[in-house]
Amino acid sequence: MKPKLATSKIVKGGMTIHAEQDAIKKLKPHSQRKPKKVSLIVGKFSKTSKTASDSMPCIKCMCAMANYLPKKGYVLEYIYYTGVDKDIHCTTLKKLVIQEKFHMSMYLAKSVLNKKKSVHDLKMVKKLKAKYDKS
Ligand SMILES: [Zn+2]
Repeated sequence: MKPKLATSKIVKGGMTIHAEQDAIKKLKPHSQRKPKKVSLIVGKFSKTSKTASDSMPCIKCMCAMANYLPKKGYVLEYIYYTGVDKDIHCTTLKKLVIQEKFHMSMYLAKSVLNKKKSVHDLKMVKKLKAKYDKS
């Protein structure tokens, strides 16, 4: 399979679609019985300093990976991203969720005060967090 390229973009209403979500959207559904393994490579590079910066997927992108990839017939094997240390990191969705548990809790706690977050988003974050809470 050829790699699919995607970038972050601003859509109608000023909302930003992150590159991860754009990449998932661009994937054609895989209809065979056995899910197809895919990996995601995320990078953020500065045009001015020519260096990499933190591109670790955000909570919403993690939810998109957990929800939409299996629905399209894919299983996510590895996630590669550029870190704050400008290095490339390799991880899995499970590791990322466990690592980000605290931020997910904060996201959910803040949502009580911030009514802007959609019910759908909150449900996805809760579901993803609960999935790995035991590990
Ligand atoms: Zn994101």
